[in-house]
Amino acid sequence: MTNQPSSTADDPAPASGLPTATVILKPKRARPFFGRHPWVLDSAVLRVEGDPTDGAVVDLATHDGNFVARGLWNAASRLRVRLYAFDAATKLDGSFWQARIESAIKLRQVLGLDDRAGAARLVNSEGDNLSGLIVDRYGDYLAVQVTALAMAHRLDAICDTLEAVVKPAGILLRGAERGLAKLEGLHLADRLVRGTAPAGAIFVQEHGLKFGVDLTEGQKTGYYLDQRDNRQAAARYARGRRVLDLFCYSGGFSVACAQSGGAASVLAVDSSAKATTLAKANADLNGAANVTVETADAFEKLDALAAAGERFGMVILDPPKFARSRASLDDALRAYHRINRVAVGLLEPGGILVTCSCSGSVSRDDFLQMLAGVAQRSGRPLQLLECRGAAPDHPVSASCLEGEYLKCVIARVA
Ligand code: SAH
Repeated sequence: MTNQPSSTADDPAPASGLPTATVILKPKRARPFFGRHPWVLDSAVLRVEGDPTDGAVVDLATHDGNFVARGLWNAASRLRVRLYAFDAATKLDGSFWQARIESAIKLRQVLGLDDRAGAARLVNSEGDNLSGLIVDRYGDYLAVQVTALAMAHRLDAICDTLEAVVKPAGILLRGAERGLAKLEGLHLADRLVRGTAPAGAIFVQEHGLKFGVDLTEGQKTGYYLDQRDNRQAAARYARGRRVLDLFCYSGGFSVACAQSGGAASVLAVDSSAKATTLAKANADLNGAANVTVETADAFEKLDALAAAGERFGMVILDPPKFARSRASLDDALRAYHRINRVAVGLLEPGGILVTCSCSGSVSRDDFLQMLAGVAQRSGRPLQLLECRGAAPDHPVSASCLEGEYLKCVIARVA
């Protein structure tokens, strides 16, 4: 990683924060934005008055000219305007972004997540009224993920604020998921943007356990912070049980169940060899000798364990996103049904199922209905003990429920 500017990130954003154009909505399309929804799709736009450059400040107005909101323009994206302010007096200038970031960081202090030995999401995009910006702190380092072109244009100012408020040892830029980046016309390579990069893995505390995080190569920004409290919650049911942790990544659930939870043993499975290497290292780091790690396809492993008549006291399922969009919802629900059904079959009577979905297009209701189907088809009643979401450093805006993607259900199987 080198500390070099990228070609798209440094286009200067106009400093005034005042609109350079007005985006006029089609008739009857303004309601979501009066309701503070931040995404204006191209299909809602009637015409544009002015000639905004990508990333510029624009006003949103009804077809008959009434102000609705202020946001940032991107002609390259189907998400034409992202909205950040809902009154005409607010300028989207440097001090506006600074105040938004400071407010986000303050929430993490309120949550008690400002301990430098730990890790926390400092900025959660729409959930912090900063659509397109994610900032995670791992110990003394920040990982910034930009998912909107307009945020890429303001990266320098954003980093100035982060440096002033957090005083990190380094700030690393992590590219958005490839699909997302393409949708936005973003070309950001992973790179160091401020300070120094960590020499290797860094170590962070989570509920009294220690985890190694690879900031430059790991999945997401290095670690699944959203599952922090769910790992602890799952561990509370693990005592004395034989635990199966499928899709384990760096072993978060496994180590929590083995160490904090007192599980009898844990089998952790992931198809990525990089992930299982991390999981093994994290088990060793915490002295969890009863965690066995295996690199395997979780679907095949489930079937093999079922065929062998194996039984577990707890099964954890935390698969990657099955549904990329509403269109693939039925396929996704079938896939969730299948793995949950096999998992239930592996559980001894009174066993605990910890089952997660990070597909935003699968609603909480859909997911619970899927579990009802599993109970029906398997003839094993499921008692829902906890219906959980992401940790509170991943806040969701009430005006943008699309931000609520993570479901984590803990259930007891009869
Ligand atoms: N539970 C983890 C996060 C899991 S993320 C934690 O708490 O940190 C999902 C994981 O599923 C990724 O590590 C990915 O490598 C893995 N994965 C994806 N497809 C898989 C498959 N077919 N079989 C096993 N693992 C898979």
